[in-house]
Amino acid sequence: MSQFALKIETSPTTKAAIAPALKVFYPPSPESKLELTPELMAEMEEASFRLETASPQEILRWATERFAPRFTMATAFGPEGMVLIHMLAEIAPATPIFNLETGYQFKETLEVRERVRERYGIEVELRQPETTVTEYEAQHGGPVYKTNPNQCCADRKLAVLTKAVVGMHAWASAIRRDQTPDRAVAPIVGWDKKFSLVKVSPLANWTKKEVWKLIAEHDIPYNPLHDQGYPSIGCWPCTRAVLFGEDERTGRWSGTAKTECGLHSLDTTPVDARS
Ligand code: SF4
Repeated sequence: MSQFALKIETSPTTKAAIAPALKVFYPPSPESKLELTPELMAEMEEASFRLETASPQEILRWATERFAPRFTMATAFGPEGMVLIHMLAEIAPATPIFNLETGYQFKETLEVRERVRERYGIEVELRQPETTVTEYEAQHGGPVYKTNPNQCCADRKLAVLTKAVVGMHAWASAIRRDQTPDRAVAPIVGWDKKFSLVKVSPLANWTKKEVWKLIAEHDIPYNPLHDQGYPSIGCWPCTRAVLFGEDERTGRWSGTAKTECGLHSLDTTPVDARS
């Protein structure tokens, strides 16, 4: 029997009743790994098509009703992530949310985590690599982000994410299609082959303007570095402020051909486009 067929039906009433109590990170359960079955592919294709014109809230509602408590979200506390956290706080506050704490994040970024706790009562879990920055750099004879940023991202982000999603069946992504060529082809619901998860992108059709409009309307916390010329913020060694008129992601891995850490690079394809 496929994992898809093992879906546990829970009434909306029951879910609403238990959700507030589920404040801890859902315990990983490796045996519950989701398998890509023809039924799941068909479901994703149908959902992605149907949700193409839905609001981000409607997409999140579908995702949490379908996959919780095995639905999770990773955030770097960017504006899009903050918008999703704000929506999840209303729709499904028990959703486990985590941050990949590489050891190279700005202190301002980590302070946003505190503001999320104060505003929403949501504890964003920090997931860290096995080595500290000092240990990692000692092992490699210096900062790996200078010599091999792809390796650094693989070690300090992708490997950590792979462990963090054990037992999960789906995750929310805060990507927008207009951010990068890779992201332009992201479906609303697709199969993330890199992590064997259903990937849901509620903001795929949103623009930067829509994101900031919601932030302003609801006084959603955001990283103060955005007001200092940093539209897109990752680790401090690989992020710079951008000049007026530059693309919002120009400041990431500036001066290199690298544009993604690997979390969202062509890892999700529309189910009807896969070979
Ligand atoms: Fe390393 Fe830079 Fe990737 Fe952060 S963004 S993990 S510092 S290469």
